[in-house]
Amino acid sequence: MQFNIITLFPDFFINPLETSLIKKALERKLITVNVINLRDFTDNKHRQCDDTPYGGGCGMVLMIEPLYNAITYIRKKYKDTYIVYLSPQGEKITQKYIKKVVKQRKNITLLCGHYEGIDNRIIENFIDEEISIGDYILSGGETASLVFLEAVSRLVPGVVQKKDSIELDSFSGDLLKYPQYTKPESFKGLRVPKILLSGNHPEIKKWRFEKQIEITQKKNPNLYKKFIKRGKKK
Ligand code: SAH
Repeated sequence: MQFNIITLFPDFFINPLETSLIKKALERKLITVNVINLRDFTDNKHRQCDDTPYGGGCGMVLMIEPLYNAITYIRKKYKDTYIVYLSPQGEKITQKYIKKVVKQRKNITLLCGHYEGIDNRIIENFIDEEISIGDYILSGGETASLVFLEAVSRLVPGVVQKKDSIELDSFSGDLLKYPQYTKPESFKGLRVPKILLSGNHPEIKKWRFEKQIEITQKKNPNLYKKFIKRGKKK
């Protein structure tokens, strides 16, 4: 899977790309990430990429020209790229959406806005989709694009080495994940549930499933409703 990230702040990505899961996926060449500096696509002397909004109002807007140039460059280089603009106005992404992306796309371009956003003519004419990571406002699409990158990368075959670990994640089925514990067995009198120390795997499996149902009902009633509905259909 190839990712291109168009950003005014390429340095933002230095550490995240050198850490943990993404670092390993890059080293093992399961994914590639090209961070593209929007400033390299300006035609003006001062390499200016933002300007004040027409009609007045506060803040700055990313200009159409460098965005257009960067998009054109990427579309030429990667004919099959799918261009996603990270935006609070986009469709909210879910694990289901991430699964679909991994199946359908081989090359994804993430366009990061900043300040007040981007010139709307880009959204109207030159991208494939607008997506949001939630109903709140960030100051830039950089953090949002990392969320997308990590969620998608986890599902690229081979990135997470134990397949079970993905299949049993919250949202992968209709339920949230069961609670997990690790050493020590007792901490200041707080004990790990006995069943997990029993070595009785069928009983552990049963306990975990019951916990999944209990937790989902409590923490995510909507997901629980879906689970019940689907159960009735079976
Ligand atoms: N003024 C705009 C928000 C601009 S926020 C509005 O009210 O709609 C600046 C940039 O941060 C956006 O261009 C977008 O790329 C990014 N961003 C902010 N919130 C986001 C979210 N919830 N999901 C994805 N990207 C977001």
